[in-house]
Amino acid sequence: MSENSFDLIAENSLGFDEVSALPSRLQRYEKAHRRALDMSGHIKSLNPEQVSEDLAYLSGLLRDCGSYLIFRDYYTVGKIRLHAASFCRKHLLCPLCAIRRGAKALKAYTDKLSIILTDEPTLKPYLVTFTTKNGADLGERFKHFTVSMKRYVDKRREAMKVKKHGRSCAPVEMNKASGGVSSIEIKRGSGSGLWHVHSHAVWLCEVAPDPIQLALEWKEVTGDSHIVDVRPFTGNTLEDYLQGFMEVFKYAVKFSSMELTDNWEAFKLLSGRRLVNSFGSFRGVVVPESMTDEALEDLPYIESVYRYLEGIGYSYEVQKEIAA
Ligand SMILES: [Zn+2]
Repeated sequence: MSENSFDLIAENSLGFDEVSALPSRLQRYEKAHRRALDMSGHIKSLNPEQVSEDLAYLSGLLRDCGSYLIFRDYYTVGKIRLHAASFCRKHLLCPLCAIRRGAKALKAYTDKLSIILTDEPTLKPYLVTFTTKNGADLGERFKHFTVSMKRYVDKRREAMKVKKHGRSCAPVEMNKASGGVSSIEIKRGSGSGLWHVHSHAVWLCEVAPDPIQLALEWKEVTGDSHIVDVRPFTGNTLEDYLQGFMEVFKYAVKFSSMELTDNWEAFKLLSGRRLVNSFGSFRGVVVPESMTDEALEDLPYIESVYRYLEGIGYSYEVQKEIAA
Protein backbone atom coordinates (compact mmCIF):
# COMPACT_ATOMS: atom_id res chain seq x y z
CA MET A 1 0.00 0.00 0.00
CA SER A 2 1.31 3.45 -0.86
CA GLU A 3 2.37 6.05 1.64
CA ASN A 4 -0.52 8.27 0.51
CA SER A 5 -2.97 5.53 1.34
CA PHE A 6 -1.51 5.11 4.82
CA ASP A 7 -2.04 8.81 5.48
CA LEU A 8 -5.65 8.62 4.38
CA ILE A 9 -6.33 5.44 6.35
CA ALA A 10 -4.88 7.03 9.46
CA GLU A 11 -7.01 10.16 9.00
CA ASN A 12 -10.16 8.08 8.54
CA SER A 13 -9.65 5.24 10.96
CA LEU A 14 -12.13 4.91 13.79
CA GLY A 15 -9.49 5.81 16.36
CA PHE A 16 -8.00 8.77 14.49
CA ASP A 17 -8.92 11.09 17.36
CA GLU A 18 -7.82 8.85 20.25
CA VAL A 19 -5.28 10.38 22.63
CA SER A 20 -2.84 7.61 21.73
CA ALA A 21 -3.04 8.53 18.01
CA LEU A 22 -1.87 12.13 18.49
CA PRO A 23 1.92 11.51 18.36
CA SER A 24 1.70 9.68 15.02
CA ARG A 25 -0.67 12.31 13.74
CA LEU A 26 1.80 15.06 14.63
CA GLN A 27 4.56 13.10 12.92
CA ARG A 28 2.45 12.82 9.79
CA TYR A 29 1.78 16.55 9.77
CA GLU A 30 5.43 17.35 10.49
CA LYS A 31 6.56 15.45 7.45
CA ALA A 32 3.91 17.20 5.38
CA HIS A 33 4.90 20.60 6.70
CA ARG A 34 8.58 20.02 5.94
CA ARG A 35 7.69 19.35 2.31
CA ALA A 36 5.56 22.53 2.20
CA LEU A 37 8.54 24.48 3.58
CA ASP A 38 10.78 22.98 0.89
CA MET A 39 8.26 23.98 -1.76
CA SER A 40 7.96 27.45 -0.25
CA GLY A 41 11.73 27.81 -0.57
CA HIS A 42 11.70 26.43 -4.10
CA ILE A 43 9.15 29.00 -5.21
CA LYS A 44 11.20 31.80 -3.69
CA SER A 45 14.30 30.58 -5.49
CA LEU A 46 12.61 30.57 -8.90
CA ASN A 47 13.50 34.19 -9.48
CA PRO A 48 15.70 35.36 -6.64
CA GLU A 49 16.27 38.79 -8.18
CA GLN A 50 12.65 39.70 -8.13
CA VAL A 51 10.10 37.21 -6.90
CA SER A 52 6.77 38.43 -8.20
CA GLU A 53 4.12 39.43 -5.71
CA ASP A 54 1.98 36.40 -6.53
CA LEU A 55 4.86 34.00 -6.08
CA ALA A 56 5.95 35.64 -2.85
CA TYR A 57 2.38 35.35 -1.58
CA LEU A 58 2.15 31.69 -2.56
CA SER A 59 5.51 30.97 -0.95
CA GLY A 60 4.26 32.61 2.26
CA LEU A 61 1.02 30.61 2.22
CA LEU A 62 2.98 27.37 2.05
CA ARG A 63 5.39 28.47 4.74
CA ASP A 64 2.53 29.31 7.12
CA CYS A 65 0.33 26.31 6.32
CA GLY A 66 0.31 24.14 9.42
CA SER A 67 2.82 26.38 11.19
CA TYR A 68 0.59 26.04 14.24
CA LEU A 69 -2.11 23.52 15.10
CA ILE A 70 -4.81 24.00 17.70
CA PHE A 71 -6.22 20.77 19.12
CA ARG A 72 -9.13 20.33 21.47
CA ASP A 73 -8.69 17.57 24.01
CA TYR A 74 -12.13 16.33 25.04
CA TYR A 75 -10.70 14.74 28.14
CA THR A 76 -13.99 13.29 29.43
CA VAL A 77 -14.18 10.98 26.39
CA GLY A 78 -10.46 10.65 25.59
CA LYS A 79 -10.64 12.26 22.16
CA ILE A 80 -8.44 14.92 20.58
CA ARG A 81 -9.59 16.83 17.54
CA LEU A 82 -7.95 19.38 15.30
CA HIS A 83 -9.82 22.61 15.88
CA ALA A 84 -7.88 25.20 13.89
CA ALA A 85 -4.76 25.80 11.81
CA SER A 86 -3.77 27.99 8.91
CA PHE A 87 -4.22 26.07 5.69
CA CYS A 88 -2.90 27.11 2.27
CA ARG A 89 -5.46 24.95 0.42
CA LYS A 90 -2.93 24.35 -2.39
CA HIS A 91 -3.45 20.62 -2.39
CA LEU A 92 -1.25 20.08 -5.44
CA LEU A 93 1.70 21.63 -3.63
CA CYS A 94 1.05 20.91 0.01
CA PRO A 95 0.79 17.40 1.50
CA LEU A 96 -0.98 18.61 4.66
CA CYS A 97 -3.81 20.15 2.64
CA ALA A 98 -3.84 17.10 0.36
CA ILE A 99 -4.15 14.77 3.37
CA ARG A 100 -6.96 16.78 4.95
CA ARG A 101 -8.85 17.30 1.71
CA GLY A 102 -8.46 13.67 0.67
CA ALA A 103 -9.71 12.50 4.06
CA LYS A 104 -12.79 14.75 3.87
CA ALA A 105 -13.62 13.56 0.36
CA LEU A 106 -13.08 9.92 1.32
CA LYS A 107 -15.50 10.28 4.22
CA ALA A 108 -18.16 12.13 2.19
CA TYR A 109 -18.12 9.54 -0.61
CA THR A 110 -18.00 6.43 1.58
CA ASP A 111 -20.92 7.83 3.61
CA LYS A 112 -22.82 8.28 0.36
CA LEU A 113 -21.87 4.77 -0.76
CA SER A 114 -23.41 3.29 2.39
CA ILE A 115 -26.67 5.15 1.69
CA ILE A 116 -26.78 4.10 -1.98
CA LEU A 117 -26.09 0.44 -1.16
CA THR A 118 -28.78 0.43 1.52
CA ASP A 119 -31.30 1.58 -1.10
CA GLU A 120 -29.93 -0.60 -3.90
CA PRO A 121 -28.21 -3.63 -2.36
CA THR A 122 -27.73 -5.38 -5.71
CA LEU A 123 -25.16 -2.79 -6.81
CA LYS A 124 -21.52 -3.66 -6.41
CA PRO A 125 -18.57 -1.24 -6.36
CA TYR A 126 -15.76 -1.74 -8.89
CA LEU A 127 -12.44 0.01 -9.07
CA VAL A 128 -11.92 1.05 -12.70
CA THR A 129 -8.60 2.45 -13.89
CA PHE A 130 -7.92 4.23 -17.19
CA THR A 131 -4.40 4.98 -18.32
CA THR A 132 -2.94 6.84 -21.26
CA LYS A 133 0.35 6.43 -23.01
CA ASN A 134 3.27 8.30 -21.41
CA GLY A 135 4.60 11.46 -22.98
CA ALA A 136 7.18 14.21 -22.50
CA ASP A 137 4.71 17.09 -22.41
CA LEU A 138 2.49 17.02 -19.32
CA GLY A 139 0.12 19.69 -20.66
CA GLU A 140 -0.42 17.76 -23.88
CA ARG A 141 -0.87 14.43 -22.06
CA PHE A 142 -3.30 15.91 -19.55
CA LYS A 143 -5.40 17.45 -22.30
CA HIS A 144 -5.34 14.19 -24.23
CA PHE A 145 -6.60 12.34 -21.19
CA THR A 146 -9.41 14.76 -20.35
CA VAL A 147 -10.58 15.09 -23.97
CA SER A 148 -10.62 11.28 -24.32
CA MET A 149 -12.54 10.87 -21.08
CA LYS A 150 -15.06 13.49 -22.16
CA ARG A 151 -15.58 11.62 -25.42
CA TYR A 152 -16.17 8.42 -23.50
CA VAL A 153 -18.60 10.00 -21.01
CA ASP A 154 -20.46 11.55 -23.98
CA LYS A 155 -20.90 8.06 -25.44
CA ARG A 156 -22.50 6.91 -22.21
CA ARG A 157 -24.82 9.92 -22.24
CA GLU A 158 -25.79 9.41 -25.89
CA ALA A 159 -26.62 5.75 -25.25
CA MET A 160 -28.86 6.77 -22.35
CA LYS A 161 -30.65 9.36 -24.48
CA VAL A 162 -31.40 6.88 -27.24
CA LYS A 163 -32.59 4.35 -24.70
CA LYS A 164 -35.10 6.90 -23.43
CA HIS A 165 -36.69 7.17 -26.85
CA GLY A 166 -37.02 3.41 -27.09
CA ARG A 167 -34.70 3.03 -30.05
CA SER A 168 -31.75 0.69 -30.33
CA CYS A 169 -28.57 2.03 -28.81
CA ALA A 170 -24.96 1.16 -28.46
CA PRO A 171 -24.24 1.29 -24.74
CA VAL A 172 -20.65 1.35 -23.57
CA GLU A 173 -19.34 -0.44 -20.50
CA MET A 174 -19.80 2.75 -18.50
CA ASN A 175 -23.56 2.42 -19.06
CA LYS A 176 -23.45 -0.50 -16.63
CA ALA A 177 -22.64 1.97 -13.86
CA SER A 178 -25.53 3.70 -12.12
CA GLY A 179 -23.07 6.11 -10.59
CA GLY A 180 -19.42 6.68 -9.98
CA VAL A 181 -16.63 9.00 -8.94
CA SER A 182 -13.17 9.32 -10.42
CA SER A 183 -9.99 11.29 -9.95
CA ILE A 184 -7.00 12.00 -12.14
CA GLU A 185 -3.49 11.26 -10.95
CA ILE A 186 -0.22 12.26 -12.56
CA LYS A 187 3.32 11.09 -12.09
CA ARG A 188 6.60 10.95 -13.93
CA GLY A 189 7.57 7.40 -14.87
CA SER A 190 10.58 6.31 -12.82
CA GLY A 191 12.29 4.53 -15.72
CA SER A 192 11.27 6.55 -18.75
CA GLY A 193 11.10 9.98 -17.14
CA LEU A 194 7.95 10.57 -19.17
CA TRP A 195 4.71 11.94 -17.73
CA HIS A 196 1.97 9.46 -16.95
CA VAL A 197 -1.67 10.55 -16.62
CA HIS A 198 -4.28 8.08 -15.41
CA SER A 199 -7.49 7.95 -13.41
CA HIS A 200 -9.06 5.71 -10.80
CA ALA A 201 -12.81 5.47 -10.52
CA VAL A 202 -15.37 3.70 -8.40
CA TRP A 203 -18.32 2.51 -10.47
CA LEU A 204 -21.46 1.03 -8.96
CA CYS A 205 -22.80 -1.73 -11.21
CA GLU A 206 -25.18 -4.65 -11.07
CA VAL A 207 -23.33 -6.40 -13.88
CA ALA A 208 -19.54 -6.38 -13.83
CA PRO A 209 -17.85 -4.17 -16.44
CA ASP A 210 -16.00 -6.27 -19.00
CA PRO A 211 -12.33 -5.23 -19.05
CA ILE A 212 -11.75 -6.51 -22.60
CA GLN A 213 -14.65 -4.55 -24.05
CA LEU A 214 -13.69 -1.52 -21.95
CA ALA A 215 -10.13 -1.65 -23.33
CA LEU A 216 -11.52 -1.63 -26.90
CA GLU A 217 -13.76 1.34 -26.12
CA TRP A 218 -10.92 3.24 -24.46
CA LYS A 219 -8.65 2.60 -27.45
CA GLU A 220 -11.35 3.96 -29.72
CA VAL A 221 -11.62 7.28 -27.87
CA THR A 222 -7.92 7.75 -27.11
CA GLY A 223 -6.50 6.44 -30.37
CA ASP A 224 -3.27 5.45 -28.61
CA SER A 225 -4.14 3.81 -25.28
CA HIS A 226 -5.95 0.65 -24.30
CA ILE A 227 -4.70 -0.16 -20.81
CA VAL A 228 -7.58 -0.31 -18.36
CA ASP A 229 -8.24 -2.30 -15.23
CA VAL A 230 -11.45 -3.46 -13.56
CA ARG A 231 -11.59 -5.00 -10.10
CA PRO A 232 -14.49 -5.64 -7.79
CA PHE A 233 -14.14 -4.37 -4.25
CA THR A 234 -13.36 -7.17 -1.87
CA GLY A 235 -15.48 -7.52 1.26
CA ASN A 236 -18.49 -5.47 2.20
CA THR A 237 -17.61 -3.64 5.38
CA LEU A 238 -16.94 0.08 5.70
CA GLU A 239 -13.26 -0.73 6.20
CA ASP A 240 -13.22 -2.64 2.89
CA TYR A 241 -14.89 0.27 1.12
CA LEU A 242 -12.26 2.63 2.48
CA GLN A 243 -9.54 0.55 0.86
CA GLY A 244 -11.18 0.77 -2.54
CA PHE A 245 -12.07 4.43 -2.31
CA MET A 246 -8.59 5.36 -1.20
CA GLU A 247 -7.31 4.66 -4.67
CA VAL A 248 -9.63 7.41 -5.86
CA PHE A 249 -8.95 9.93 -3.14
CA LYS A 250 -5.24 9.57 -2.63
CA TYR A 251 -3.46 12.64 -3.87
CA ALA A 252 -3.27 13.78 -7.47
CA VAL A 253 0.51 13.99 -7.08
CA LYS A 254 2.69 11.69 -5.02
CA PHE A 255 4.84 14.14 -3.13
CA SER A 256 7.36 11.69 -1.74
CA SER A 257 8.51 10.60 -5.18
CA MET A 258 8.10 13.86 -7.07
CA GLU A 259 10.90 16.38 -7.43
CA LEU A 260 10.06 19.95 -6.43
CA THR A 261 10.56 21.17 -10.02
CA ASP A 262 8.15 18.53 -11.38
CA ASN A 263 5.67 19.25 -8.62
CA TRP A 264 5.81 22.96 -9.48
CA GLU A 265 5.30 22.24 -13.17
CA ALA A 266 2.32 20.03 -12.40
CA PHE A 267 0.81 22.70 -10.15
CA LYS A 268 1.14 25.39 -12.81
CA LEU A 269 -0.61 23.20 -15.37
CA LEU A 270 -3.29 21.64 -13.20
CA SER A 271 -4.11 24.29 -10.61
CA GLY A 272 -7.80 25.14 -10.81
CA ARG A 273 -8.56 22.17 -13.09
CA ARG A 274 -11.22 19.72 -12.08
CA LEU A 275 -9.49 16.49 -11.12
CA VAL A 276 -12.40 14.76 -9.36
CA ASN A 277 -15.57 13.98 -11.31
CA SER A 278 -18.75 12.20 -10.29
CA PHE A 279 -21.79 10.99 -12.16
CA GLY A 280 -25.18 9.35 -11.58
CA SER A 281 -25.94 8.42 -8.00
CA PHE A 282 -22.66 9.96 -6.79
CA ARG A 283 -23.44 13.34 -8.30
CA GLY A 284 -23.94 16.13 -5.80
CA VAL A 285 -21.93 14.67 -2.91
CA VAL A 286 -20.77 17.65 -0.90
CA VAL A 287 -17.24 17.55 0.47
CA PRO A 288 -17.05 19.91 3.47
CA GLU A 289 -14.95 23.02 2.90
CA SER A 290 -13.65 22.90 6.44
CA MET A 291 -10.20 21.36 6.77
CA THR A 292 -10.44 20.75 10.52
CA ASP A 293 -12.18 17.97 12.47
CA GLU A 294 -15.78 18.13 13.56
CA ALA A 295 -16.18 19.52 17.06
CA LEU A 296 -17.76 17.39 19.79
CA GLU A 297 -20.64 19.49 21.06
CA ASP A 298 -21.42 20.08 24.72
CA LEU A 299 -18.26 18.52 26.08
CA PRO A 300 -15.60 20.30 28.11
CA TYR A 301 -12.14 20.43 26.54
CA ILE A 302 -8.60 21.62 26.93
CA GLU A 303 -7.27 23.59 24.00
CA SER A 304 -3.63 23.02 23.12
CA VAL A 305 -1.49 24.93 20.66
CA TYR A 306 1.39 23.21 18.87
CA ARG A 307 3.84 25.30 16.91
CA TYR A 308 6.26 24.01 14.28
CA LEU A 309 9.87 24.77 15.14
CA GLU A 310 12.60 24.31 12.58
CA GLY A 311 14.75 21.30 13.39
CA ILE A 312 12.45 20.20 16.22
CA GLY A 313 9.01 19.69 14.74
CA TYR A 314 5.72 20.38 16.47
CA SER A 315 6.29 21.70 19.92
CA TYR A 316 3.62 22.01 22.55
CA GLU A 317 3.16 25.67 23.32
CA VAL A 318 0.24 26.49 25.57
CA GLN A 319 -3.09 25.20 26.80
CA LYS A 320 -6.25 26.49 28.37
CA GLU A 321 -9.24 24.69 29.80
CA ILE A 322 -12.71 25.51 28.64
CA ALA A 323 -15.88 24.13 30.22
CA ALA A 324 -18.74 23.17 27.95
ZN1 LIG B 1 -1.41 23.58 2.89
